[in-house]
Amino acid sequence: MAAGSVFLVGAGPGDEGLITVKGLSLIKKADVILYDRLVNPLLLEYAREDAERIYCGKLPDRHHLRQDAIQQIMVDKAKQGCSVVRLKGGDPGMFGRVGEEAAALKEHGIFYEIVPGITAGMAAPLYAGVPITHRDYSGSFAAVTGHRKTEEGQPSPDWKSLAKGVDTIAFYMGVKNLPLIAENLLKHGKAAETPVIIIEWATTGRQRTVKGTLAAINHEAQKEKVQNPAITLVGDVAGLNSQLAWFESRPLHGKYVWLVKTASSRSTIAEKLKIDGAEVIEAPRFEVISSEHPLPANLSSFNKIIFTSPESVDFFFEALKKKRIDIRSITADFVGKTKRVQTQLESLGIFSNKEMSGEKVLEVGEEDSLTKKNTSYNFWISHEVKKRKLTENTLGRLITDNVINTVVFPCAKAVKNAEIELKQHNIEPVEWFRSKSVICYGTKSRKAAQAAGISVNAVLAEPNAEKLLQYLYQTPEMVL
Ligand code: SAH
Repeated sequence: MAAGSVFLVGAGPGDEGLITVKGLSLIKKADVILYDRLVNPLLLEYAREDAERIYCGKLPDRHHLRQDAIQQIMVDKAKQGCSVVRLKGGDPGMFGRVGEEAAALKEHGIFYEIVPGITAGMAAPLYAGVPITHRDYSGSFAAVTGHRKTEEGQPSPDWKSLAKGVDTIAFYMGVKNLPLIAENLLKHGKAAETPVIIIEWATTGRQRTVKGTLAAINHEAQKEKVQNPAITLVGDVAGLNSQLAWFESRPLHGKYVWLVKTASSRSTIAEKLKIDGAEVIEAPRFEVISSEHPLPANLSSFNKIIFTSPESVDFFFEALKKKRIDIRSITADFVGKTKRVQTQLESLGIFSNKEMSGEKVLEVGEEDSLTKKNTSYNFWISHEVKKRKLTENTLGRLITDNVINTVVFPCAKAVKNAEIELKQHNIEPVEWFRSKSVICYGTKSRKAAQAAGISVNAVLAEPNAEKLLQYLYQTPEMVL
């Protein structure tokens, strides 16, 4: 097999939108994706359904072991001819060990490319309303690891140069060593009143900022229980946060919504929620695949053709085209089973009838949607709907990370689907839902939820995106 290639790609700091166009297009094409713990799981949704995904956060935890294992997998997969994407948080060159990985690939003669990403030390300040340089406050910037150790196990940058020579400093991996960082900067001459801002889980729905002066920041961080991942930004620019902050004040910031799906179509609701600052997963997701069943031969003999979904209309017309059957040869009445199907038919210039009964009826749709009990109907299975494994995995990851705080059931069937997904990941639904805000579109979904033992926080006055947004605006997010 031809030799493969490896792409060392920066995934950006968290917000799904902060990956490069090049990085995203490589994800879409990859055969194998190795990804780190801090990479937004939603980015993997763009991968091919059959792409192999390897979570490096789960590999052996001892640092050198993990690094060796990752490098070995990349080399092996590339030698098998795969296109491999190594997806790393932020920028691969910023405390990302890309140097070691590239060296290993070079050593094995494997073709590689490195794709930059937006690093947390630059994105986090901007998402907190802080530019790292500013004409009045800062003309220089340093990115420093708070992790590199002296023999005594303390961070070991050149404190004097940092304190005296750099206006803005971003510390990565420094939460644990914050007391030492502050102490050393003060000792080497940084002013005690220098503003400091710590940005936790920057660019995600979990973003939180904690502020203080250099002298007081450690106290503040302890009080607020700041945790990794976080960037600690030291410098006068940090003071601009109070005027320029924008991200955390968006109306749905902090809401992580699971829109439980029952059909293959993507909703427009997700986009609306995201614009206002929510994070959203639509799951389960389904792929629609055309069926192997041939069209019935005698289409012109039917009096009525019933379509059960918009997709069934598409596949029917596609099949006609393939067989070069002119639509005008079909004299049957067309029936759209739901409003969405009727709209789809209208977009093709067909005004559908709503009357389902009659003689010589052909029903078209995926197998489960067909009115099997009515034996007088003829059927054509137009397509199959398959659940995407990929989305199931992504959802599993979000459940494990405990980030979802809001669940929306647009219909009764969604309740069943949510239960199936949770059980798939060995989660007991009733218990899991207890800490979530549960929103139902109407009374049918509410009854289904309650029958499943799930307590419902809200039923929308009308089943639409506007009412959902209105409700979400009014409720503070639940603390997990
Ligand atoms: N290559 C990455 C950094 C890897 S080191 C980059 O360019 O961003 C990991 C450290 O990066 C974390 O300990 C934390 O200090 C920082 N970091 C990564 N993502 C972050 C985020 N979303 N918010 C705050 N800090 C983050």
